[in-house]
Amino acid sequence: MRMVDIILKKRAGFELTSDEIGFFIKGYVDGSIPDYQVSSLLMAICFNGLNANETAHLTMAMAYSGDTVDLSAIAGKKADKHSTGGVGDTTTLIVVPLVAACGVPVAKMSGRGLGHTGGTIDKLESISGFNAFQSNEDFIRIVKETGLSVVGQTGNLVPADKKLYALRDVTGTVESIPLIASSVMSKKIAAGADAIVLDVKAGDGAFMKSVEDAFLLAKEMVAIGNQVKRKTIAIVTDMDQPLGCAIGNALEVKEAIRVLNCEIKGEIREVSLLLASYMLYASERCVSVDQAYDLAQTALETGKGAAKFKAMINAQGGNGKVVDDPDILSIASDIFEVKAQRDGFLNKISARKMGEAAMLLGAGRAKKDDQIDHSVGVTIHKKAGEAVKAGDVMARMYVSREKGLYEAGRLLESAFMIKDDPIKPGSVVHGVVQE
Ligand code: URA
Ligand code: CA
Repeated sequence: MRMVDIILKKRAGFELTSDEIGFFIKGYVDGSIPDYQVSSLLMAICFNGLNANETAHLTMAMAYSGDTVDLSAIAGKKADKHSTGGVGDTTTLIVVPLVAACGVPVAKMSGRGLGHTGGTIDKLESISGFNAFQSNEDFIRIVKETGLSVVGQTGNLVPADKKLYALRDVTGTVESIPLIASSVMSKKIAAGADAIVLDVKAGDGAFMKSVEDAFLLAKEMVAIGNQVKRKTIAIVTDMDQPLGCAIGNALEVKEAIRVLNCEIKGEIREVSLLLASYMLYASERCVSVDQAYDLAQTALETGKGAAKFKAMINAQGGNGKVVDDPDILSIASDIFEVKAQRDGFLNKISARKMGEAAMLLGAGRAKKDDQIDHSVGVTIHKKAGEAVKAGDVMARMYVSREKGLYEAGRLLESAFMIKDDPIKPGSVVHGVVQE
């Protein structure tokens, strides 16, 4: 088999066989096929697409390109969740404890943030002592003992995605639905869970800018998951404005704890309960989503979710007292306010600009190896639909250095679109995709 023939075939718009896809993935990972040939094939895929069969073959070839996680030592069906990446989107820290509190084990691998979106591992590392890097044995043991664990990815998991993602990033081939679907699903399949719930974001702060594209991506991922016998459900949610009111690592942990302690409501609680209920339903803990919702809500209201979060933090070396008293988190003490420039109605908050502003303050990384400051970030004090007056506080910046402060302030001012006409904000949940 020759890589050039595979490129020519896809360029002409024909369907690739599973052998051809397997040959390309194996050759790329072992170094026998060079970047330039893979780049060419990726571009052909961007233009000519992949059908459902090809996307499933690509996903499986990637999923088994390296090590996979074996969760069979943990009894029962295991649930996992994945968000395609958002701003102020701390649902994992709420959902995982709620699902575990309802009796479904969650053994989750999460990532660090990159660019304007945050990452769960960075957030957890703002809790003093928390160790996100556990050996495989300890990861499994913690889930068996406490019902949940969230760790960073280690080992040689899905090396095909690591190489392909880096190449796509620099060859203009990220935005392709089959390539994104196979990238996400290969990682979820390698991570070993039986039930997978995907939070597919649509809007300014997400990969998929339009709701239509987000549904297409969701359908493709659900089809792949179910084809390989992992019960998969996707929820399409809004990322036109940040989901919660906090952006930045310690600030987001604090917000998640306040939701778990029933001190705040709002969209972040709404989306978290929905994701938790679909995880309970997909893992067959409940016969209906309504029943699952009631169960998740009870776990939240009785404090069982908060107790699970505390148990996980303690088991991973962190200071679990933070759940009782989130004020012990270290948050930058220099605060700058961003005020409304005019009277009117807040129509939209750019999630992307919000994320970029937090990054400029040091909360995120521009490059993979950048150091981050867990204590800095932004809180939002008005949401789309509200009436505002010139001078109202729209956002606060929690700052520990001068660098980036001016730019972040300007960016935040421009992130709030204030207009004369009121708007009625749409629902944060666009819909659910299942088989
Ligand atoms: N997230 C992923 O994991 N992969 C993509 O291709 C895009 C977003
Ligand atoms: Ca919207």
